[in-house]
Amino acid sequence: MDFKLTDEQRLIRKAARDFTAKELAPNAREWEEKHIFSRKVFEKMGQLDFTGLYVPEEYEGTGVGRLTAALIFEEIAKGCFATAVYLSVHNMVTNLIYQYGDEEQRERWVKPLALGEKLGAYSLTEGEAGSDAAALSTSAVKTDGGYVLNGTKLYVTSGGVADVYAVMVRTDEAQKQKGISAVVVEKGTPGFTFGPHEPKMGLNASPTTELNFNDCFIPKENLLGSEGRGLNMALTALNGGRVSIGACSTGLAQQALDYAVAYAQKRQQFGRSILSFQGLQFLVADLATEIEAARLLVYRAASLMDLGEPCVMEAAMGKRFATDAAMRVTTEAVQILGGYGYMKSYPVEMYMRSAKVAQIFEGTNQIQRIVIARELSKYKGGKRPDSY
Ligand SMILES: Cc1cc2nc3c(=O)[nH]c(=O)nc-3n(C[C@H](O)[C@H](O)[C@H](O)COP(=O)(O)OP(=O)(O)OC[C@H]3O[C@@H](n4cnc5c(N)ncnc54)[C@H](O)[C@@H]3O)c2cc1C
Repeated sequence: MDFKLTDEQRLIRKAARDFTAKELAPNAREWEEKHIFSRKVFEKMGQLDFTGLYVPEEYEGTGVGRLTAALIFEEIAKGCFATAVYLSVHNMVTNLIYQYGDEEQRERWVKPLALGEKLGAYSLTEGEAGSDAAALSTSAVKTDGGYVLNGTKLYVTSGGVADVYAVMVRTDEAQKQKGISAVVVEKGTPGFTFGPHEPKMGLNASPTTELNFNDCFIPKENLLGSEGRGLNMALTALNGGRVSIGACSTGLAQQALDYAVAYAQKRQQFGRSILSFQGLQFLVADLATEIEAARLLVYRAASLMDLGEPCVMEAAMGKRFATDAAMRVTTEAVQILGGYGYMKSYPVEMYMRSAKVAQIFEGTNQIQRIVIARELSKYKGGKRPDSY
């Protein structure tokens, strides 16, 4: 196992770090308070080649892969977690269309997505279909030359501001899993509208909305792959998404710890720095160790994915562990700042609110445990032949 990053990875990480310091960190609080989504910031990330991370150069991406992408998401999340999240979803959608799309679909959607000219969104969840995604009911009924969509999708990251939506719909009522297909719907299609921005606990620089389909016609050319394969595509995409959310959470946790340690070094009580108390030293030592463990799990899952090795279990472990670590670290960061930590004039309460959502989306952490247990049960004695 090689823990050394390449020179190229270091350079890309530095570019992300500089971008975060200049463009994200100074603005994140205002975006959160005023619910501002900045399209300009997205375009700048396109200019930095952060919008086509898994797509080859032939389709305007960089194809740098999962580990390098994890480094980028980690850095972006330090400045603005919401930006890192929607960038991660955008890359997931770009790759989904690249992986399952034909040449025409790649030309039409993948290229502008990879260039950052168009923003992508992913829509699986519905009111009655959250963790049980296969229960979705938004219908796509075959008609002359295409499909007519009816139904409501929930909680779509970048809803309303995205241009290209990968939407999971039901094409066969008679089958559960195999009745689901993936289609692309563009903003502006007649019969396709958005709900208002959902008021949220945090993550407000990233709009979340309903998608409403009301007799919305899409041509048959908007179907990805073949009918009945949508759930499989959606879950494969989520597997990669989990690694990215793990990386975002690692960055958020690191940022919270760095802030809390710097604060505790300066803050004096009882005539000395509060970090000189062993009670706090032990706490920050444990938090730093948890972050490092999270990082290693995420990097390992990302590396396996880059190698094309099985990694469903590792991705779920990385997501589960890194998001739980981010929740604990950000909560303790508030504690380390005491009353100041609870105030909006310090950033740690925002970090804590941001961390919560990562335990919920891209499969809740309970669902990650189900995925891990299911993978373990596939092999005799719970051990994969190539495992430790
Ligand atoms: C800010 C935000 C952005 C989002 N963005 C997107 C997006 O872009 N696209 C998209 O499609 N969705 C998105 N989602 C939806 C998200 O993926 C779902 O909320 C999530 O999958 C959980 O589904 P649910 O909310 O219906 O919860 P439920 O499935 O109702 O779960 C409720 C609780 O029950 C637990 N539970 C459920 N089943 C089991 C089980 N079998 N065993 C143990 N516990 C279980 C869950 O872990 C959870 O704690 C977003 C959500 C949020 C909050």
